[in-house]
Amino acid sequence: MATSEPASDKEESKQFLVQCEDCTLEQTAIGRAEIEAIATVHQEDTGHALVAVEWPQ
Ligand SMILES: [Zn+2]
Repeated sequence: MATSEPASDKEESKQFLVQCEDCTLEQTAIGRAEIEAIATVHQEDTGHALVAVEWPQ
C-alpha cells in the first residue's frame, strides 16, 4: 500500500488566499486544514461562506 502521495503533500503546503463573498475578510492560509479552520470559525460567527484561491507563486 502506498502511504505517501507527493501531490497531496504539495497541496498541504500550498498557500491560499481565503476570501469572503459577503464581507471584506481576506486571509492567507497554508493547506486545506487551515482553510477549513478559518472557514468554520467565520461561518459560525457570521454565517458567511468563504472561497479559497491559490496564492500566485
Ligand atoms: Zn464574511
